[in-house]
Order: sequence, then C-alpha cells, then structure tokens
Amino acid sequence: MFRKSIYFAALAALASNSPFVSAHELGAHVHGVASLQIAVDANTLTLDFSGPLDNLLGFEHVPRNARQQAAVKNMADNLNKADKFFVPSADAQCMLQSVKLDSLVLESKAVQDKKEKSRQHEEERGHADFDGEFVFVCKQIAKLHDLDVKLFDTYPNLHQIKVEVATQKKQSSATLTPAQRRVSW
Ligand SMILES: [Zn+2]
Repeated sequence: MFRKSIYFAALAALASNSPFVSAHELGAHVHGVASLQIAVDANTLTLDFSGPLDNLLGFEHVPRNARQQAAVKNMADNLNKADKFFVPSADAQCMLQSVKLDSLVLESKAVQDKKEKSRQHEEERGHADFDGEFVFVCKQIAKLHDLDVKLFDTYPNLHQIKVEVATQKKQSSATLTPAQRRVSW
C-alpha cells in the first residue's frame, strides 16, 4: 500500500505539470485518447464512447461565442446520427435505436454556470469530458463481428481509441488509430 501511494503521488506530480492531463482523473483524461466499450448481448449492441471533450470540440468549457456554440451544436447533431461514425458488420443488420449524450457543454445555461463555478475549486479545472451511449438493435446479431469507427476524419484531435469488447462468449481489447479503424472480434 505504501509503495502504491508513492507511485500515485509521483503520477499526480507529473500530471499537474502537463497541460494535457488532469490530475483529477489520472490516466483517463488524456487529450487525443478516447475509450470505447462495446457490449454485445442478446440482439443489442451497446457502445459507450467517452473521453476528453477536446477530442471532439477543441475546447473544454462552456461556449463563449457564437462559433463555439455552433461547434457544440454541430457535435451533438453529428453524434445523434451515430450510425455515420459507428458502422457494425452489414450482415448483422443493426439499426441505431437510442443515443444518450452527456457533457457539460450540452447542459442548460443555468446548470453550466453552476458546474463551472464549482469546478473553480477542483483540480480538474479547465478540463471536461464527453460521454455518449449508442444502442443498436441487430436482426442478425450472430453475424456481428466487427465495427468500423469513422470518427478520425471528422475529429482530427482524436488520435487513439482504446476499445474493450464484451460478448457473451469472450472479452477482448484493441486500439484504434487513423491507420486502424476497424475492431473485430
Ligand atoms: Zn482536458
């Protein structure tokens, strides 16, 4: 335990010197890196995509001008059509059924003001995350073996997606990059 706490203290010290890493969420909030959890169960494919908001917007605060407001709206519009960015095996005949988006920038103005104020006292000040849950229902789920992820062209700040796949039969992990955009299982 003692050794572990020293290790974490060292990491926190490192993180606080970096403008790109929040000490609050060590290892989780690294600009350019996102995570994608893929769960296949019964006839459902569930994708949980999360990471620094910077990956999608280029900033991590409440929009301060019309250009930033438009960027937030554009991001939400895009991700509400998540089947453009997450493309399951065609033979599986999956249809996007629901989308849940969660981020500070998508909250109402009153909630944003309150959260930004409370963030002033936290180490994570200046950083914010994005979370999206995308549920597909598939007619031929037995034929679902891969997923193409087409986020890299639209979001050039995004460089790497750490993927974890869980099906009823097995679990696996993979890393997607602009050179490797398909995860198979
Ligand atoms: Zn950040």
